[in-house]
Amino acid sequence: MNTLLRIAIQKSGRLQESSLNLLQESGLLFSNGKDQLKTQARNFPVEILFLRDDDIPQYVEDQVADIGIVGENVLVEKQKQNTLVKRLDFARCRLSMAIPRSENYTGLSWFNGKNIATSYPNIVNAFLQKNNLSAGLHEISGSVEIAPGIGLADAICDVVSTGSTLLSNGLKEVEVVMNSEAVIISSPKLNPDKQNILDKLLFRVEAVQKAKNNKYILLNCPNDAIEKITSIIPGMKSPTIIPLGKPGWSSLHSVVDENAFWEKIDQLKSLGAQGILVIPIEKMIL
Ligand code: ATP
Ligand code: ZN
Repeated sequence: MNTLLRIAIQKSGRLQESSLNLLQESGLLFSNGKDQLKTQARNFPVEILFLRDDDIPQYVEDQVADIGIVGENVLVEKQKQNTLVKRLDFARCRLSMAIPRSENYTGLSWFNGKNIATSYPNIVNAFLQKNNLSAGLHEISGSVEIAPGIGLADAICDVVSTGSTLLSNGLKEVEVVMNSEAVIISSPKLNPDKQNILDKLLFRVEAVQKAKNNKYILLNCPNDAIEKITSIIPGMKSPTIIPLGKPGWSSLHSVVDENAFWEKIDQLKSLGAQGILVIPIEKMIL
């Protein structure tokens, strides 16, 4: 029987859609019917398991799944035999301490002798230890943000992105304990066949990530500006330069980093570039 790499992803929740998109953009074709526990890709040797995110590190440690996609917060909390293989740049959030808005926060020592509700006891304990604090922990698995309001705890440690949930529960964020994003984890020992499939998958994931971080750019410029423009947008090797019908002008095609994009557009315009088109890239392989 041919080897399959088993990938565990979240069954439903904040990681699910982006995890599925990543696999699909990597060219994997599979059905993802709502009630399925697992599915096999039609064109790539992987099987996808749909699980609760909290269970994924254990399944990966037990080698029921070979790799998984989880939030870094869950990876760190679970303390399983997992290797972080790739950061995925989605589901960005932070794990923070929050306290009632009416409290006067005086710094870390505020937490001494307090009760903290959280779903992340290991991370909170490590944070308390690192800061020489002693506080009680109250582990709850969901709706942590209501704990202070119902008198269950003085503070919480939970996932925050915009802070609107905290706000609507009368809380304020006072300390960031860790930053998190989605990551691919793997069991530390994969057999060579599985490692080979993982390497192929990672190659595709990287091509998708690079494409997302870059744009294809086309512009017209006077020939005497080509050299300067090339130094601003050198592209992968060098830009493609095609003469225009209009004498003394060229069309220049290159690739530009998404983050540096607006700043570069201003420089290009000041060098005489015109008719600038910026186009998304689907895959990018260097
Ligand atoms: P499950 O039912 O699978 O246990 P869950 O309720 O524990 O789901 P979700 O709320 O779907 O988990 O969050 C999954 C992961 O997404 C979190 O562990 C975290 O890494 C990330 N995450 C959580 N909240 C946010 C947010 N507001 N913005 C961005 N990422 C988030
Ligand atoms: Zn969960």
